[in-house]
Amino acid sequence: MTGAAGGPAIEDTISGLRARLDEARARRRRVGLVPTMGFLHAGHRSLMEHARSENDLVVVSIFVNPLQFNPGEDFDDYPRDLDHDLAVCAQAGADIAFAPAQQEMYPAPVATSVSIGPLSDVLCGASRPGHFDGVATVVAKLFSIVGECSAYFGEKDFQQLAIVERMAKDLSLPVRVVGCPTVREPDGLALSSRNAYLSAAERAQAPVLRRALQAGAAVVEAGETDGAVVEAEMAAVIAGASLARIDYAAAVDPATLARGRPLRGEVRLLVAVRFGRARLIDNLGCRAG
Ligand code: AMP
Repeated sequence: MTGAAGGPAIEDTISGLRARLDEARARRRRVGLVPTMGFLHAGHRSLMEHARSENDLVVVSIFVNPLQFNPGEDFDDYPRDLDHDLAVCAQAGADIAFAPAQQEMYPAPVATSVSIGPLSDVLCGASRPGHFDGVATVVAKLFSIVGECSAYFGEKDFQQLAIVERMAKDLSLPVRVVGCPTVREPDGLALSSRNAYLSAAERAQAPVLRRALQAGAAVVEAGETDGAVVEAEMAAVIAGASLARIDYAAAVDPATLARGRPLRGEVRLLVAVRFGRARLIDNLGCRAG
């Protein structure tokens, strides 16, 4: 089944979505889920296209999840544009856009929270305490609402992908989690809804994240096994951008996200950098030894 020519069906209730999906699965349709916070771009579209290629019914959720924002973060300002999002869903052939109101997802304060321990506390979790508990809780809720499916997440949010994979496994959720490659602008900047916050001068410097990762990977591939040296190299590249304020530059084991030393085998390099009010992240895989 492909998406309707007139665009996706819009569903804003949990019970309505469940009913549609149960009915589809009863007819042996494979369900693909793409969870998003909206303001959709080509990165989101690539996830939808991946889902489209592997499933009969593609659901895109569009929900800015308050649980994953800390006080003082950009929940209120987070860009929202449902008409635009529906057009992107239509282009990618999505069948259903699930766009619940906050009241539908959280009719009462949430007492239950999903926490993934050590994977959540490092890197972005260290700068945004509680953020990944909010992510894991809403994704668990979406997995519970959608039921058996394949769910597509971007490698751009590498820590989030690791956490969601671990959660699905630990809780035996009937969901196959699929990681998808990062989509970038021609100059290397990873697409992100938060790029909308960048001034022209900040936007011009933002590809420094990608350059720092590439410099770090070159050092690793030249034989460096001291993670601290690789991290210092990436930090030095970021320091060369006058408007950048580094949050972290890290070389980690991709399975545990631990800053292992010496570096061995597969290594993931990750950076987080603030430009004005935008906090941007990116990452790159490489191989040591
Ligand atoms: P968000 O709407 O930012 O919460 O992202 C929703 C999903 O899209 C997440 O799985 C992200 O990792 C993924 N995503 C965001 N940006 C990109 C990108 N540039 N390339 C690929 N996937 C992305």
